[in-house]
Amino acid sequence: MMVLVMIQELLYELRHRELEEHKREPEVYWITDLCRCPLKRDFELRYPELTEANVYNPHFIIGDLVHMGLVEVLKRARAINLHNFEIEAEIENSRELIIGNKRAIVKGRVDVIMRSDNEKIGIEIKTSKRDTKIPHENHIQQCRLYLWLFDLDYMLLLYLTPDRITEYKIEKRASEEEVISLLSDRTAPRYTWECSYCLFAVMCPNKITG
Ligand code: SF4
Repeated sequence: MMVLVMIQELLYELRHRELEEHKREPEVYWITDLCRCPLKRDFELRYPELTEANVYNPHFIIGDLVHMGLVEVLKRARAINLHNFEIEAEIENSRELIIGNKRAIVKGRVDVIMRSDNEKIGIEIKTSKRDTKIPHENHIQQCRLYLWLFDLDYMLLLYLTPDRITEYKIEKRASEEEVISLLSDRTAPRYTWECSYCLFAVMCPNKITG
């Protein structure tokens, strides 16, 4: 029997499955949660159906494809001896922290880890329409938190934009005190620009307008 495969549906289905595997849990804080407005996490727990709509967002789908493409490039480069690192993609790790009498599990998924006998390097890939003001503060913070969570030697923050492809070496690891402080920080939003791109701006009392 011939099965007609619609590429569009296939892309959506893969993203659906990915979302299913990473459903929000009240005790779990992803590293990305610590680098953005804390209200977004609250809204995602309350209205998971809104987050699911992101499955169809072309920006995220293209981002996923670029990530997969880069991993493939790194693997091919190893096959022809352009580097000697083992390549691992989408690696997850977690650490448990107790804050007061509350348990929090901090989880992270780094895009790529490159391992050699004496080095362990993380790569965070960012795709964007523009290259203005890179590297962004929240992206640097994300890398610093990955250094803490994965015990890496350093991170490469890689930007792929139509105007510039460039990378930044991030070496300053976040401390556990910093992580605890971010978990408790309820400043919402953390950055004034966040509300303009926020899915929950249609219901949020803290939305910055104008
Ligand atoms: S609208 Fe602004 S303050 Fe509200 S959740 Fe979104 S980013 Fe946070």
